[in-house]
Amino acid sequence: MRIDQNRLWSDLMTLGAIGALPLGGNDRMALTDADRDGRSLFRLWCEQEGLSVTTDGMGNMFARREGTDPSLPPVLAGSHLDTQSPGGKFDGPLGVLGALAAVRALNAAGRTTKRSIEVVNWTNEEGARFMPGLMGSAVFADAMPLETAYASVDRGGRVFGEELARIRNKGPVPVGGRPVDAYFELHIEQGPLLEEMGITIGAVTHSHYSLMADITCHGENAHIQSMPMLGRRNALVGAARLIAEIDRVGRAHAPAGSASAVTIDLWPNNRINIPHRAVFGYGLIHPDKEGLASMEAAIEAAAAVIATETGLTFETTFQRRRDPVFFTEELIALTETVATDLNLSVTRMLTRPGHDAFNMLRVCPTALVFVPCRGGISHNELEFCEPEHCAAGANVLLHALIQRADR
Ligand SMILES: [Zn+2]
Repeated sequence: MRIDQNRLWSDLMTLGAIGALPLGGNDRMALTDADRDGRSLFRLWCEQEGLSVTTDGMGNMFARREGTDPSLPPVLAGSHLDTQSPGGKFDGPLGVLGALAAVRALNAAGRTTKRSIEVVNWTNEEGARFMPGLMGSAVFADAMPLETAYASVDRGGRVFGEELARIRNKGPVPVGGRPVDAYFELHIEQGPLLEEMGITIGAVTHSHYSLMADITCHGENAHIQSMPMLGRRNALVGAARLIAEIDRVGRAHAPAGSASAVTIDLWPNNRINIPHRAVFGYGLIHPDKEGLASMEAAIEAAAAVIATETGLTFETTFQRRRDPVFFTEELIALTETVATDLNLSVTRMLTRPGHDAFNMLRVCPTALVFVPCRGGISHNELEFCEPEHCAAGANVLLHALIQRADR
């Protein structure tokens, strides 16, 4: 049994027409009108396959194909339909539409399963508009209170809970709190390794050590034209110097580690004032605990030097650490077996980015399955996954789902 590669590709391209960007990418940030429209299309396709679609209080969507024993906990497979801005057509949608393709193949073959299968679209995986990311699955897995998610505010001051209601996706079903047999997530690798190795399927074993933080640089206001140059304490200069150091630390620890600053806010941020405050966010990632610690130490040392030289001060105002999560050995082995049976090359590997599957590990046995993407490019309009690789991943999903749902 195989999924319909042409239909899966056509689904990916059709969904990609919603929130389409000029270079071929997508902008369907969570709870925007484009996200709403993408959800509606997904719902239509599910209902056309005879699935019953429910939406929970977080807007997570579950499209259920009933098993022969509906009393058993279901097997879930999916990912997310929201994107970065700009984002690509594959990061997220491949996991959702690949799972739908698997269900279509079961329907076409008239193949029943013992357990029910549910195709999932998790709300706000990306965290592009409302922080943090992985939000829908976090609330489902009881890793975040529903009220905390509802209270998240975007840069325009709009509130998550209100936007969810506005796009009519605040469903009546309680979030989580129900047994799930297993969760499978298919995703593009978002890195270059599979492509470089010429391998089609990655069975993800675990994730990296990572850190996100905000640093505030404190300086002093002054008139841009009149303040003597040697007395200036420009917070933007401190931020710029430390940001450049963070980049240098990342390059020194490559390819295993990486470090980049990605956001900046500045006060008062006008053309006539030396700024007194800059806040910038950065992220570190490394497969080893020692590697991450050495990057942190190098950044701290650089901040101390810059502070001494400039009279500016640095203060960490936010920090989130994530230790590796380890995927379920039984399902990693199942992914390998299924891929091999399908004559697909497969390797065990780590993930760098976080995924909804991280949260689902708190609920049930979980597998994360990677396929290559061109040049490792992601969170970019040019993100691309070959049709054959999309189909290969969905075929692995199909057969893993059959095995698991017949238990
Ligand atoms: Zn994703």
